Amino acid sequence: MDLDLGPEDQAFQNEVRTFLKENLTDEFLEAGRLTPAVRSPIEPTRRWAKVLAEKGWLCHPWPAEFGGPGWTAVQKYIYELETELAGAPSINNMGLRMVGPVVMKYGTEEQKATVLPSILNDEFAWCQGYSEPGAGSDLASLQTRAVPDGDNYVINGSKIWTTGAHNADKIFCLVRTSTEGKPQEGISFLLFDMDLPGITVKPILTYAGDHELNQVFFDDVRVPQSSRVGDENQGWTVAKYLLEFERGGVPYTPRVKAGLLRLKDMIHKEAGGDGRSLAEDPDFRGRLAKLEIGIQAAEIIEKRVMSALSQGENPGYASSIFKLRGSELLQEMLELTMKTLGNYAAPYQPEAYVFGNNVEAVAPNYGLTATSKYYNQRAATIYAGSSEVQRTILAKHALGL
Ligand SMILES: Cc1cc2nc3c(=O)[nH]c(=O)nc-3n(C[C@H](O)[C@H](O)[C@H](O)COP(=O)(O)OP(=O)(O)OC[C@H]3O[C@@H](n4cnc5c(N)ncnc54)[C@H](O)[C@@H]3O)c2cc1C
Repeated sequence: MDLDLGPEDQAFQNEVRTFLKENLTDEFLEAGRLTPAVRSPIEPTRRWAKVLAEKGWLCHPWPAEFGGPGWTAVQKYIYELETELAGAPSINNMGLRMVGPVVMKYGTEEQKATVLPSILNDEFAWCQGYSEPGAGSDLASLQTRAVPDGDNYVINGSKIWTTGAHNADKIFCLVRTSTEGKPQEGISFLLFDMDLPGITVKPILTYAGDHELNQVFFDDVRVPQSSRVGDENQGWTVAKYLLEFERGGVPYTPRVKAGLLRLKDMIHKEAGGDGRSLAEDPDFRGRLAKLEIGIQAAEIIEKRVMSALSQGENPGYASSIFKLRGSELLQEMLELTMKTLGNYAAPYQPEAYVFGNNVEAVAPNYGLTATSKYYNQRAATIYAGSSEVQRTILAKHALGL
């Protein structure tokens, strides 16, 4: 599907394309190509984030009053699609997509004055401390305790599945500050440094072979109470607001659409079991058409949500539709990519996607990371709230069941 662009949007699209052509150096394109998981290799990707920050485009979803470029919903969508099509590295967006909106709405003036500029300049890498060994879908049952002591909280407990904690400078973290009343009523939302005494990060390696996940342990960690966002014991409201942005703030379809375009190109290069081009295989073409129709439908929902965001509204339950369909389409696209690659999808060559390697890969360039992405993104229907949880939210809030 093509965006129906007016002259102003076409001019914007050209501006974005020119910027990407001039600034996506070989190093950045290589980082984009060697992306086996959700994020691209950290060092070149941080350098790419700096280029975007200098241009003023890093926090492109933000309203102009907080330092964003003030783009319309269509412009944001164009930008997302063009960066995907150009093969830009995939950045850690937890600061700009999650912490930023929360601080804008619930932060003190001091937090706005310090945290927001640091995100605009990509000074820190953030990670998310929500899930615990005994609290995933049932997040409100979290047990990590924060006990007031003078001007500080003293934190004890553990967070799990913490993406990027091993590279993070800061964490946004849910802690239990009260055991009275309903579980949701005793939670607070804190922002703090990852190098404080008492914090230990242990890696969790996935079966895709990558290290993105960790378990984080807190042992008498002292955090200033001034780092709390929102009132004490009101963190559940802040946490839910953030989840709307986590699920609904990043459009899935530009990534899936870029993948579909690459796939369409690939099927002319790869043959099916009978030796004929996959482009001639009716079954395969049927699945491809179904995927494309699904993307078109999801794109309409995403644009609606992005338009609401541009007008200062929050995504609401539409973010659950967004997350549910987006993650399913992503998995379908990656599955078709695996099918297309056939034998080339089989070799396990993680050394071939280490940044800066000189390994001769078995798979063609366009299929190098397909298998690891396929395995990595099996988690897409689990992280940021599983599909079952999204369906329950929709049943309650959209259908009133
Ligand atoms: C790759 C990856 C990255 C992640 N990154 C982070 C991160 O950076 N920070 C962070 O805090 N967390 C992160 N998570 C954790 C993620 O949010 C949780 O895994 C998720 O919320 C599910 O929780 P759980 O793993 O405890 O599974 P459970 O909650 O135990 O669920 C197990 C199964 O039961 C189903 N289920 C549970 N409750 C219900 C219900 N009420 N109705 C119907 N079905 C139900 C679930 O859908 C799932 O299929 C990440 C997870 C993954 C896999």
